[in-house]
Amino acid sequence: TLMITAENVEKWYDNDFHVLRGVSLQVTLGEVVVIMGPSGSGKSTFIRTFNALEPYQKGNIIIDGIKLSHDLKNIETIRREVGMVFQQFNLFPHLSVLNNVTLAPIWVRHWKKEKAEAIAMQLLEKVGILEQAHKYPAQLSGGQQQRVAIARALAMQPKIMLFDEPTSALDPEMIKEVLDTMKSLAESGMTMVCVTHEVGFAREVADRVVFMDGGKIIEIAHPDQFFNNP
Ligand code: ADP
Ligand code: ADP
Repeated sequence: TLMITAENVEKWYDNDFHVLRGVSLQVTLGEVVVIMGPSGSGKSTFIRTFNALEPYQKGNIIIDGIKLSHDLKNIETIRREVGMVFQQFNLFPHLSVLNNVTLAPIWVRHWKKEKAEAIAMQLLEKVGILEQAHKYPAQLSGGQQQRVAIARALAMQPKIMLFDEPTSALDPEMIKEVLDTMKSLAESGMTMVCVTHEVGFAREVADRVVFMDGGKIIEIAHPDQFFNNP
């Protein structure tokens, strides 16, 4: 089953800077794809097109059989299917950890508070944050905040998870706990696309590694093959 199809996606800015130069990629159900490449090569821009966070001028994106359009209903549907975790956790600072996780399920999915909280507590347990449920984001370490952000995205029960440099803003000692959480999510069968510089994670968890440079995909390979290239 194809979960993501990107066909010849092109994007450029008014100043003629061409950030995506015809990028195509297919991701199947349960697959974990890691995207690597130098800063400014278009990695973040590319994955942000998958959930309509980034407009583009040419090409097509099809998510789980639904073609992305400019229709608001369509974008709403796609965003429910595609969860995203950012470099800067983007938690709501004035809400408790628990309320960060239940906010979208209650307001977007219209779940009853009790149901949303029960599911949120399960997710917080899974990412190892249960004891922090009633604290505020500022009271947590960066690694804990990022795991809350993962739980928050999962609370919407997405079919696909996107990670945009999820460990780049973290102190070294907190990177592992976030990568371990991502790894167990991958092992649970989640379809994932991760922009990251973490070679260990890519080697161990990725089904395929994509290398981007200058707004293009230069190489797609199995990690064993990718990292053995001279
Ligand atoms: P990566 O994730 O690989 O670091 P990005 O997708 O963030 O790359 O790349 C964005 C590129 O697009 C950068 O080179 C950035 O300078 C450029 N860019 C972003 N916004 C604009 C803009 N409004 N006008 C021109 N260039 C932009
Ligand atoms: P990040 O690194 O967080 O992805 P960027 O550096 O790509 O962010 O972009 C941050 C903001 O600055 C965005 O709103 C982007 O559109 C704008 N921007 C980035 N590069 C340029 C550029 N070369 N010209 C104009 N705006 C830019």
